[in-house]
Amino acid sequence: MAEEKRYLYGPVPSRRLGLSLGVDIVPFKVCTLDCLYCQLGLTTNKTTARREYVLVEAVLAEIKETAAAGLEADFITIGGSGEPTLNSKLGELIDGIKKITDVPVAILTNGTLLYRQDVRQDCAKADVVLPSLDAGDEQTFRKINRPHRDISIEKLIAGLTAFRSEFTGEIWLEVFLIEGLNTDNEQIAGIKRLIEHIHPDRIQLNTAVRPTAEPNVGKLDSEKLKVIAARLGDKCEIVAGFSPEHDAKHLGSKPQSVLSMLKRRPCSLDDICLALGINRNEAIKYISHLQKQGVIHSMQKGGTLFFKAN
Ligand code: SF4
Repeated sequence: MAEEKRYLYGPVPSRRLGLSLGVDIVPFKVCTLDCLYCQLGLTTNKTTARREYVLVEAVLAEIKETAAAGLEADFITIGGSGEPTLNSKLGELIDGIKKITDVPVAILTNGTLLYRQDVRQDCAKADVVLPSLDAGDEQTFRKINRPHRDISIEKLIAGLTAFRSEFTGEIWLEVFLIEGLNTDNEQIAGIKRLIEHIHPDRIQLNTAVRPTAEPNVGKLDSEKLKVIAARLGDKCEIVAGFSPEHDAKHLGSKPQSVLSMLKRRPCSLDDICLALGINRNEAIKYISHLQKQGVIHSMQKGGTLFFKAN
């Protein structure tokens, strides 16, 4: 059996990036934000301090090993259990990956540190950058994304705009919609105005189809998503989940192992990761697949989300 990797997971099917090898370069859960909808759970270290949270040399050693064994993926996706641009060696990591393989590199980022030139220089080494924008004004930004005190929507927009003018690769901007918080006409008009300023190559609409950090994060139905997508223009797409059949091709037997655990007792995300020795992002894929199949459900208990077989 292949040895479990500490910093890599997958390749797993991704709604936005096809078949993606995940690279985790910050520990759980170091982030500049604490989004209501975060699928990883609540932020435990809200910071703007860039550090080498995870040793890039160790990450590159794992990527080298994986590539040598034959890597089939559409993207190597740098993300993590928090905000990856907080890792101060992000640029060195991408340089290192480019020496190992031709697989394109994507970064999943909340974009809040792009106002810094060093972060923009690091991100510009990637092929695709996928930042987020969920609000049309500061008040809604605070409500949804609960930023570190040094971060504002003004800084976020300034960073995204500066990055757009410097970066020659693609920017795919995600907008996460929460019923009742950023979906009224005024909010959508505000988001649209900001998007026109940023000029992304794609706009990708998402909603709470997976378990979220806070309970009661309102999910939009597909009709409402379509109406909003039409308002945001022809670059806008809904990043709807793959069908369970599509996922099944790539997920192997792991969802079955998760299901067996959940048949025995309710488990949290941490329980599943610990028992199977897998990364949180990977566990989320399996859980989301089982939820789509309708064989498990989730419930909140004492502030923690648990999963159980039906
Ligand atoms: S969704 Fe992303 S940006 Fe928001 S708290 Fe989670 S890791 Fe941080």
